[in-house]
Amino acid sequence: MFDLPSPFLQGIRIDESEAMSYLVLARKWRPAKFEDIVGQGFVTKTLQNAITSGRVAHAFLFTGARGVGKTSMARILAKSLNCENGPTVSPCNECENCKEITAGNCIDVLEIDGASNRGIDEVRELRENIKYFPSKSRNKIYIIDEVHMLTKEAFNALLKTLEEPPAHAVFIFATTEPHKIPITILSRCQRFDFKKISLKDICAHLKFILGKEGVKLSDASILQVAKAANGSMRDSQSILDQIISFGGANISDEDVNNILGVIDRSIIYSLVKAVLQKDAGMAFQVINNIYNYGYDINQFCFNILETFRDIIAFKVSKDPKELLDLSDGELSEIEGFAKDIDVNELLLIFNILYKAEEDITKSLTPKMILEMSVMKMINRFPVMPLAALMKKISLLEKRLPRNSGNVIDMANYPPKTVKSGGEKRPVSIAPPAPRAGASTKDFLEFLKDKSILIYSHVESLKAFDVKGDEIIITPTNSYTTEYFESSEIQSDLKQFAHDFFRRNFQILIKKVEKKGENSLYSNNGRKSNASKSSQRMERVLKGEGMDPVFSQVKELFEGEIIDFKYL
Ligand SMILES: [Zn+2]
Repeated sequence: MFDLPSPFLQGIRIDESEAMSYLVLARKWRPAKFEDIVGQGFVTKTLQNAITSGRVAHAFLFTGARGVGKTSMARILAKSLNCENGPTVSPCNECENCKEITAGNCIDVLEIDGASNRGIDEVRELRENIKYFPSKSRNKIYIIDEVHMLTKEAFNALLKTLEEPPAHAVFIFATTEPHKIPITILSRCQRFDFKKISLKDICAHLKFILGKEGVKLSDASILQVAKAANGSMRDSQSILDQIISFGGANISDEDVNNILGVIDRSIIYSLVKAVLQKDAGMAFQVINNIYNYGYDINQFCFNILETFRDIIAFKVSKDPKELLDLSDGELSEIEGFAKDIDVNELLLIFNILYKAEEDITKSLTPKMILEMSVMKMINRFPVMPLAALMKKISLLEKRLPRNSGNVIDMANYPPKTVKSGGEKRPVSIAPPAPRAGASTKDFLEFLKDKSILIYSHVESLKAFDVKGDEIIITPTNSYTTEYFESSEIQSDLKQFAHDFFRRNFQILIKKVEKKGENSLYSNNGRKSNASKSSQRMERVLKGEGMDPVFSQVKELFEGEIIDFKYL
């Protein structure tokens, strides 16, 4: 089928300390101007406006995920404020102040790691120092990274400074967890929420860097790197560093997949194909291979889910290329999958998978859950388009008795065999051989075959007996009573019984004995139509005496009855 590459399992873990040793590209390509920061246009513009208008706050809070440009933005802001040619929205990056800030050794711009300087003593020291004027710049700037790590006491000490900051002081706090910062601090900061960087932006930037570095990487691989970075520009560059140090200037897609622990697209697509083509054997084989190679079943399930999402998006979108983060090759695969399948069927598959993914995370036997879920997807029933379903229901409804609410006209009984309007009724063909000793049970089998609708009503009776030339019907509720009182139904039933037993029958309907129900049929069933309808309505709304067809429709759509009317 296919060969699985031996994976360097489970991708790359990057934590801050580890990242530091990789940051070759990230450092080399660290933004030096506001314009270089990718994907944070709103923050950039607002800060630039503040600088231009001279309304720079004393405290800023930069929040957002890791690697989205918070620290870079803080440094550029510091340069803008302290550049010898400033304050300016375009720091020169040439003067001593700018150069020192870039290198991180400017005496007036202090970068503090909140995680390792989190106590009250450090903040007290900061408060002491901040009183003194900057030694050679306009402002004394404190950049505190991971500020949420400060202790409660440290925050309290900091608050006092923030309440009355010296004119030359500017604080720039950065955090990935703003909810851990006391509201008293938050309220004194101008807050900027940094967004995760879009795949498109990351890809474009990686392409730019690769071009400058003279490294060749396919679009599909660039996309994989960007996806693995999960919205973090810095992570994307760290991953790129690793890939370059592994593969040099020419890196194959397979290398990238191996380094990232990404499950090869072709494997994911073979399972999708097996599901769409209802090929259980192939599906089990793919899952087995995935399992044997030690790939994460949960990740695999997520990849499949993602692919079905893409197929659905492809089907419904006018411009799928814009909507889907896929390479051209992948896009044409998705197009192939989308061609022959209905959206409703895809939704059915998606729901099964979604549930599977949830179950797999909790399960000790994830492989088995995936296998069984795949079987469910393969054994899916073809989904009937809603319009076709409604048409079917309306055909069924036409077969239902229409005299509900009316008193049965016994004068016209038995009804004529040929109906006006040409509606097709079940008509028996040649009389079969007489059935000696045929029982009621045998007849029910025959009836089931002839009219599933009448049969389903018979099933809901309390009793159904054939004795001599009588069919004795004992309903449990007034709905079935009315159904069997219908002259059309009686005529059909008699015809079927005649065909089966080869003799004529009379139908006897026993009265419903249930209290309340019975009252409807007192006065020889001559209650006014209006009051009868309203009582029926009440019962139907309560769910009593429901027609089996309605019950099925109700169950199918998980609906509830809020109203009904006679046609
Ligand atoms: Zn400068």
